[in-house]
Amino acid sequence: MAVPKRKVTRSRRGMRRGHDALVSVQSNECSNCGELKLPHHVCGACGHYDGREVVAAQESL
Ligand SMILES: [Zn+2]
Repeated sequence: MAVPKRKVTRSRRGMRRGHDALVSVQSNECSNCGELKLPHHVCGACGHYDGREVVAAQESL
């Protein structure tokens, strides 16, 4: 098994983890129905994208 040659210092560990922060999920309102949706994704509520229906709307249970 490969073993690290030297101890990783608090400083180096921190530098590595400097890029590990989670980023919050972006969301937009659907221009058709107003539901929150992910940018560049078809709306999950009404199936619209770019001003037209591309997927049949989901029937609510
Ligand atoms: Zn929608």
